[in-house]
Order: sequence, then structure tokens, then C-alpha cells
Amino acid sequence: MPLRAKVASSVSRTAAALSRAAGRGDGSVIGGWIGLKIDPDLLAHLSAGRAIALVSGTNGKTTTTRLTTAAVGVLGRVATNSFGANMPTGHTSALAKAGSTPYAVLEVDEHYLAQVLESTEPHVVALLNLSRDQLDRAKEVAMMAQLWRAALVRHPDIRVVANADDPMVVWAATPPADPAQGHIPPHVTWFSAGQRWHDDSWVCPECGSTIQRSGEQWWCTGCPLRRPAPQWTVEDDGVLDPTGAWHKVQLQLPGKVNLGNAATALAVAAEFGVRPVDAVSRLGAVTSVAGRYAQVDRDGRNIRLLLAKNPASWLEAFDMADVAPTLLSINARDPDGLDTSWLFDVDFAPLRGRQVLITGDRAYDLAVRLDVNGVPFQHVRSFDEAIRAVPPGRLEVIANYTAFQDIRAELDRVN
Ligand SMILES: [Zn+2]
Repeated sequence: MPLRAKVASSVSRTAAALSRAAGRGDGSVIGGWIGLKIDPDLLAHLSAGRAIALVSGTNGKTTTTRLTTAAVGVLGRVATNSFGANMPTGHTSALAKAGSTPYAVLEVDEHYLAQVLESTEPHVVALLNLSRDQLDRAKEVAMMAQLWRAALVRHPDIRVVANADDPMVVWAATPPADPAQGHIPPHVTWFSAGQRWHDDSWVCPECGSTIQRSGEQWWCTGCPLRRPAPQWTVEDDGVLDPTGAWHKVQLQLPGKVNLGNAATALAVAAEFGVRPVDAVSRLGAVTSVAGRYAQVDRDGRNIRLLLAKNPASWLEAFDMADVAPTLLSINARDPDGLDTSWLFDVDFAPLRGRQVLITGDRAYDLAVRLDVNGVPFQHVRSFDEAIRAVPPGRLEVIANYTAFQDIRAELDRVN
């Protein structure tokens, strides 16, 4: 590395360590920020010579990054931004403290994917899904897909691992080849991770016609865009690889969604030459991811934490949760997005028949939504009140970002 980059990297590590020592979180954002101020090309310098995988999408990227890191770990130590700092400051910090490890798996905020592709020149990029997110901040889904597509056109040498079940992702991953411009289509490996949420992909991003679905197939009624045949699929409680071999996957994370994330992780690791048969047992060692899926026992209740931050992830959370008493908590602070009207995008009907409790700054918004949806509920003012209101046994907690962090803090920052 050039001297400037070495100095920047060292200062970045020191700043992160000081921030940690001062009890201000893990320091990865401030460390990366200072490093990039000293050398704006620091991320590129730190990436040089490493084989890097980027993982991006609206939902599931933190979990998939963790599973992929575990899978690629077959090869040795892997650098990763495990605290969810998924912008260039976080990537810089993760690589600055990683030393000389030749592998990195980085979670990337979907808005920053083009920029991070440019800086890190990854070996492979995994594209998970695109759906509506915080209404006051996130880009429109079609605009996001367009940005991804334009970025991939500029990097035809990067291998792409993409979700065949999401029309927006498929369109983004298959830019038209233009030989006159020297463009060749990217090499894409398709996986099937399912798509529970269809409401952002009824309209074809290519031609504007409707997209039709039948079973797991989908196709555009006006142009050739359709579901590609996936090479990696979930079957029963395992994953089928491209050779047709089936691998039983024993995860400690709940739901079919996470089996899809496991298939993705194995597909990405295979791009590094890792055989699924060697990687699959490592996936079972992942117990929780920054508090998500963590289980805590208190007063005879087994409390499980599920994070849900946008309509698609609420649907997934209902699917992951057991049919058991369920506490829903909603805030609308800055990291959550201030607009809660998305609650009306989510069908809460799957909760009918469960004991439902609500809390959080915006519990009353939730109350209106549940009432319209015909789901009976009880309002509680605190987490302790919620625990007292349910019988011993499982209590599922589904919360959006800051509500999740509040409850996690009450449970002594479970990981
Ligand atoms: Zn079309």
C-alpha cells in the first residue's frame, strides 16, 4: 500500500479503538470516516489483492453476510463488517482491522452498491431482493434496480449471484450486452430464495407490462423477461447444488427465509471454490446475528427477537414466528423512517388466532392497522408488562429498528 494509505489505515484502526474504549459502539463508522478523510482511495487500497464478496438487497443482507462469512471460512480467516455498518466507512474500517486476510465478505447498503463495486472490484456480488423500504428516504424500487444494472454494465468481469425469484433483481442482473460498447453480459449464477412479497414487482421494469405468476414461475406478458432456471434451490430442509447433490442444512435460525439465505451463502462461497459439502456444517454454528433471532429466558418465558423493518420483512417475520403469543413494537424515529403509513401495506391477518400485544412509540398506529385487519390485540406500556401478560413459554417479539434496539437493551444487549 502507498504510505498515505498505510497512515490512513493505522489512524482508522486507532480511532475505532478509541471510540470502542470510550463506550461509543464498535467504532467502525468513525474509524472508516477518518481513514477516508486522510486517503479518499483507502477502501480501494485496502481491497487490492483480496478476493471480496459483496452482499446487497433490501432484506436479509446482514444474515446472509454472516452465513456467507461462515461458509467462506472453510478457506481461512475472512474479513467482514459484522456490526452491520454497511456503507463505505464500515467497509473501510472492517478491512483496515482485518490485516492481511485474502478474503472478505461485505454487506452493502443497496444505495451504495455502485460506489462500493467501483472501490473494491469484488470477485462476486450477491443480489438478494429489492422491495419498498423507508418511505421518506429509500429510492423507488425500479430506480434502485436501474442503478444496480448500470453499475453491473460497467463491471462485466464481476461474477453475479442473484435471486431468480425477484423480477427486479433478475432485470438488474441481466443488462443488455452492447458489443459496440465492449459490453458483455455478466456471468450470473441464479439461486431461488423465494419471494413472499410481490407488491413491488407486478410491473415489468423492462417494458411496463404486467408480470404474471404461477407457482414459483413468473414471466412478463409483454417481453421475454421471465424467471431464469435457478442452479441453487431450497428443497425440504436442505439445499440442492448445481450438480444435483442435496445438502441437509441444520440452521439455528428460523424459517424458510433463512434456508434461502443459506442457499445464497453456499452459492457465493462456491464462487470462491468452497464445496457446499465442506461449508454446510459451518452454517449451523450461526446462532443469532446482531441480536436478530436471539433467544432469552426470563420469568419462564422464552423470548425470541425478530427484526422487521419494511413490509416484505414483516411478512417474513410472521412466517418465521411460531404460532405463539406475539409482541409487536413500532417506533418512528430517524433510523426507522418517520412515516408509518407502510403499516397499511402489510397484511397482519396471519396473526389472527395468536395472542397479540402491541407497544412502542407508535403503538396506536399499529392499533388502527390491526383493528382494520380484524386482529384483536392488547396494548402494553413496557416490555415487563408484556412478559407478565403472556403465559410461560414462547413469546415472539417482532419490532422495527429502534424498537428492536430498545428491547435488546432491556435484555442486556443480547447478541
Ligand atoms: Zn416486460
